[in-house]
Amino acid sequence: MTSEPARAVPASFLPAGSTIGILGGGQLGRLLALAAAKLGMRTHIYCPDPDSPAFEVTPNKTIAAYDDKKALTAFARSVDIVTYEFENVPAATATLIADLVPLAPDARALAISQDRLQEKAFLQNARVAICPFAPVLNATDLKGAIKSIGLPAVLKTTRLGYDGKGQRIVKTREQAQHAFNELSRVPGEKPQMVLEAFVPFEKEISVIVARNHKEEIAVYDPAENIHLNHILHTSTLPARITPQTAHEATEIATRIAKSLNYCGVLGVEFFVSKRGQTQQLLVNEIAPRVHNSGHWTESVCPTSQFEQHIRAICNWPLGSTRRYADVVMENLVGETISTVPGSLSQNEQPNVYGKSKIRAGRKMGHINRILPPSG
Ligand code: AMP
Repeated sequence: MTSEPARAVPASFLPAGSTIGILGGGQLGRLLALAAAKLGMRTHIYCPDPDSPAFEVTPNKTIAAYDDKKALTAFARSVDIVTYEFENVPAATATLIADLVPLAPDARALAISQDRLQEKAFLQNARVAICPFAPVLNATDLKGAIKSIGLPAVLKTTRLGYDGKGQRIVKTREQAQHAFNELSRVPGEKPQMVLEAFVPFEKEISVIVARNHKEEIAVYDPAENIHLNHILHTSTLPARITPQTAHEATEIATRIAKSLNYCGVLGVEFFVSKRGQTQQLLVNEIAPRVHNSGHWTESVCPTSQFEQHIRAICNWPLGSTRRYADVVMENLVGETISTVPGSLSQNEQPNVYGKSKIRAGRKMGHINRILPPSG
């Protein structure tokens, strides 16, 4: 039996008053729903967690599992288009939805970004430089991978990794074997990993790019990112990179969006390494959604990444990405949320996600510090 082809995003545009379905009810879903409301769109958020922060800002919600076919079907039938706020939407969920209603970004973008090996194959095909790697499915592969990639290296599960979960830096063969054993412990699943060369990067940057179905493209300035305990700590604009590196990063992000025939906002993460006097860019990973390192756009750009995503998937003209000011976005993780509002200054814009429980390592909000003009 052949299934119906996936529904295409309308060639014209979705008018205000349409309903956007969002899979996932975390802070990104919340910020998307707020941006959608500003454009006169309704949202319907689908999330299994009854305590989802996005539920507070949407008129419609469904609390159900991502494999609940009945609930997914009713959800898809109640909306004009579906998007998502996290890339680990199960493939079967994406297929079910895409058969009933347009899904943007599409199932291909989702499949590629969910699996590190597929992602690397896609990037290589698009002539994008990435770090040396080797697939690791068993202990014999691991030995071969160490031989070809060398040590130190980073062993990563191919799926379901985020904020440093599902990966280990390994410096010796013993550490690599130990990490392989540890990361293999997913019940009922065969180990699927990749060994990446450890990149002695100078800094990490990311570029947020948007593309709509009219093939318009809008790119934000590269952000320089610092991580603490594997979680993004700050994104700073401008990044301390050469104009040539900024240009290259923009060109690579654009090429990736075009190669995916992408619709929506896409985050592209890079390592910047020193090569003699020049900087070399390697793509670390891509995220088919609004991105934590793009939160600064809310405060210093005419169009935030959240509004841009809604405009892109609804096939509206894209907005300006021009940056008015230098800015530092800082994530408020765990107890650090309690610094708001006490220590706020005039040039600081807080965004509090309204999560009911503070937990160590949980992203509770962020703050954009707008910097005074220099000189
Ligand atoms: P990822 O989940 O792949 O985004 O990795 C999370 C973080 O781990 C990155 O932002 C880097 O700081 C670090 N990392 C990941 N892969 C490598 C690598 N191959 N070499 C050096 N650092 C890495």
